[in-house]
Amino acid sequence: MRIFWRAFPAGSQHTADSSGRCAHSPQPFPSSVHSPTLVIVAGILAALVTTVLYAVWHFNKGIPGLRLWTLSFLSASVFCAILLVRDHTPEVLSVVLTQASISVAAYLCLLASRAYMGRHPLPHGYVVMVIAAVTALAVYFTVVQPHLGIRFALAGSVSGVCFLLTGHTLARGGFRNVPARYLFALVAGLHGLFLFLRPLLFRLATPEGGGGAGTGMVALLSQFVVLEATLALVMMAFGTLMLTNEYITSELRHLAEMDPLTNVFNRRAFLTLLDKAISSTRRTPSGLSVLAMDLDHFKKVNDTWGHKTGDDVLRHFVRLATGCLRKEDVMGRLGGEEFAIFLPNAGSEGTRAVAERLRAMVASQPVLTERGPIGLTVSIGATQYLPGDSSDALLQRADEAMYLAKEHGRNRVEARAL
Ligand code: GH3
Ligand code: MG
Ligand code: MG
Repeated sequence: MRIFWRAFPAGSQHTADSSGRCAHSPQPFPSSVHSPTLVIVAGILAALVTTVLYAVWHFNKGIPGLRLWTLSFLSASVFCAILLVRDHTPEVLSVVLTQASISVAAYLCLLASRAYMGRHPLPHGYVVMVIAAVTALAVYFTVVQPHLGIRFALAGSVSGVCFLLTGHTLARGGFRNVPARYLFALVAGLHGLFLFLRPLLFRLATPEGGGGAGTGMVALLSQFVVLEATLALVMMAFGTLMLTNEYITSELRHLAEMDPLTNVFNRRAFLTLLDKAISSTRRTPSGLSVLAMDLDHFKKVNDTWGHKTGDDVLRHFVRLATGCLRKEDVMGRLGGEEFAIFLPNAGSEGTRAVAERLRAMVASQPVLTERGPIGLTVSIGATQYLPGDSSDALLQRADEAMYLAKEHGRNRVEARAL
């Protein structure tokens, strides 16, 4: 069984002398070290993960980044395969292939995380140039001026940066909301950090580096390096599956909670959120207002301009309304052309001001269509939470105020218990 020291960096048949240069040594460490077995295990795991991710991607092609993660694990599998056949490969070719495959694997992982987070792709041309330059340097320090230490640092440089950037990219959105992103970010970040520390550890472990522990220690460290890489691979595979699950869950939640036409909450989700807001205002009385809104003569819009234009008018109204709201205000479509908004921490004056601003804005900003502008008005009923109110009672009172606005001529705001 060959020892693993040659695996990182790839293709070496040398051990470092005191200057960090390589000295030829066909069997520098005891033959009892079983690291190739670890590489085989890592390779099998990488291939398995690639297969599983490919299958998941095949049935969920809309998940951003999943294809790139699959390709990243494929590249990691190729890396393991190249390590295993290195003894039968010319050294320069082996260095080029290992350096390129591990850099590409890490870069694809970074691209996948950017795609998942909806970020722009990176300028591939520059990155390919960097990978090519680092690979060329690795070849230089293998053939022209053999230097194990530098090659070792080069081997982890591109991938180290990519994994650190992957961690930085994914750690967003709040741990409580999206814990999978943070777990993946932690694993990628720690692995990236380890790739930078690795050469230092080997330097310390060698007698020349001051560690004094000799080749046995280096061999142990080599095994640890493969183990760490295997563990990182498995953890990142779990991370990818967790992110896939997070994405699908949030898509399903979106479908269940949002109105597909206007992209505000549907009636059921709105009522659930209103119930929560009522519970919260019961605990810490802080004012909770509700606006019920109904577009005026909307049937006429449909009859005159067609149903599709009617849909555009609904979206236009929602755009205007959400533009008037604070971050904590919540809007829902209760059905047809009826909407509601609840405003936590809002006093009666503030609520009236919001309702009046919204009414005036809708009246003054017609919907612009190819066939000309469509004037639109809205009737609004406003009310405030009273002790003991249920969500139904609160909405009912807002509705009554809204019907009062209709009775009084439409395009107006009426209030009850405000
Ligand atoms: P009022 O001023 O009294 O509220 O009159 P209105 O015409 O707005 O009220 P009515 O309830 O008679 O008409 C509501 C119309 O909304 C009827 C229905 O066709 C239309 N509608 C409901 N849902 C949708 C939708 O999703 N898209 C479109 N385009 N129209 C819808
Ligand atoms: Mg109406
Ligand atoms: Mg109506």
